[in-house]
Amino acid sequence: MAAPLGIDQLRAALRSAGTGIWEWAIDSDLLTDADLGLEQLGYLPGEVEPTQRAWDTLIHPEDRQANEAAFQRYLRGDRPLYEHRYRILAKGGDWRWFEERGQVVDWDADGRPLRMLGTQTDVTLQMALREVAAEARQRLERAQREVAAAQAASLAKSEFLSRLSHELRTPLNAVLGFTQLMETDPRDPPTSGQGVRLKVIRESGQHLLRMIGDLLDLSRAEGGALVLHTESLAVPALAQACLDMLQPTAAQAGVTLRPDLPAVLAVQADPTRLRQVLLNLLGNAIKYNRRGGTVRLAAALDGAEVCLEVQDSGIGIAADELPMLFDPFWRSPEAWRRHDGAGIGLAVTQTLVQAMGGRITVHSEPGVGSVFRVWLPAAGASASGSASASASAATPAATPAASAAAAVPGGPAGPPGPISRAS
Ligand code: ADP
Repeated sequence: MAAPLGIDQLRAALRSAGTGIWEWAIDSDLLTDADLGLEQLGYLPGEVEPTQRAWDTLIHPEDRQANEAAFQRYLRGDRPLYEHRYRILAKGGDWRWFEERGQVVDWDADGRPLRMLGTQTDVTLQMALREVAAEARQRLERAQREVAAAQAASLAKSEFLSRLSHELRTPLNAVLGFTQLMETDPRDPPTSGQGVRLKVIRESGQHLLRMIGDLLDLSRAEGGALVLHTESLAVPALAQACLDMLQPTAAQAGVTLRPDLPAVLAVQADPTRLRQVLLNLLGNAIKYNRRGGTVRLAAALDGAEVCLEVQDSGIGIAADELPMLFDPFWRSPEAWRRHDGAGIGLAVTQTLVQAMGGRITVHSEPGVGSVFRVWLPAAGASASGSASASASAATPAATPAASAAAAVPGGPAGPPGPISRAS
């Protein structure tokens, strides 16, 4: 059997773990064997007087009292061990952390301590790591508090918007209802001048109502409360219905609508929301066009998706404006100068497309026109039913799909989509 470890072997084993052994004769205040500690602090042998009194002068002034208190607690029997961590001055002038443990090994007949044995370990790195971890934890907690506050604020904003929308809609519907009654009352028909003013009231009211609806959609989507009813839809019929709906507006603007639709094509989408998407895109394509211009609506199957394409020959969008295009309330200076609008149509459009599991891209060339493409799951590519839009789907700020215009000669078609351009 191997011989038991001698004190030197033990000391060597502890030294390799960064721990030194010390011995303190309390009456004579003689400290022996604290060599490793001194070495770790950078002092040469004999440079520090081998007494506890001299050692104490190296301990950080803020830690001395606590160190003494830890020793007294042990002596009183409140602790089974003297144990303490303190900062201590290294020869280079920096502070290091030491962890000390010790026990009295000799008592006199009156119970007074005579000799103490203990260990000492440099725990500076451990303390630094602990500090980094504590700081990281604090940062995480602060970030969590900020996220919670932002979520609460967002919820409060959504609730406020939805209540406000309701409060605005009720009287507005009354205004619109009575306007229509006055316009069509056969017993008391308006004069032609009154008819013109009533039309302005009705159209302005309808515009306000649309804006309130858009705001409500945005806030619902942000709150994750946008409910969708997706089903298999016939694209040509729905797309043609949208074109028919906008034909009078297009005629008034001197813009020709050109359907380029296949006979059969089915998409998985919410019919009301898809109609809203197409009406927004087609409405913009007419609004930001020129007299004699065209708007083309095409649709085609692209793998497991359906691609809907709205192409106009209008004013186009500058490359540096594309990143803001889907931000709520953003409008180009040209749009501000010449056209009505609130700048939320595209934000709502993107939100709805993403909520239906799709994506939207845009390519544009100023002075030539724009093409917006919407990809949605083809019918059969995903399950039908109801879906609730997630909050992330409601973040229209990021527009990875928006990219600068590709300089395609003769048009803004951009990188070829699945739909070939009509000549
Ligand atoms: P609105 O039309 O009410 O301003 P939108 O959110 O629909 O709001 O559009 C935001 C802005 O994007 C518009 O103000 C306009 O500057 C620009 N825009 C949208 N569609 C087109 C388009 N087809 N051609 C040129 N600019 C467009």
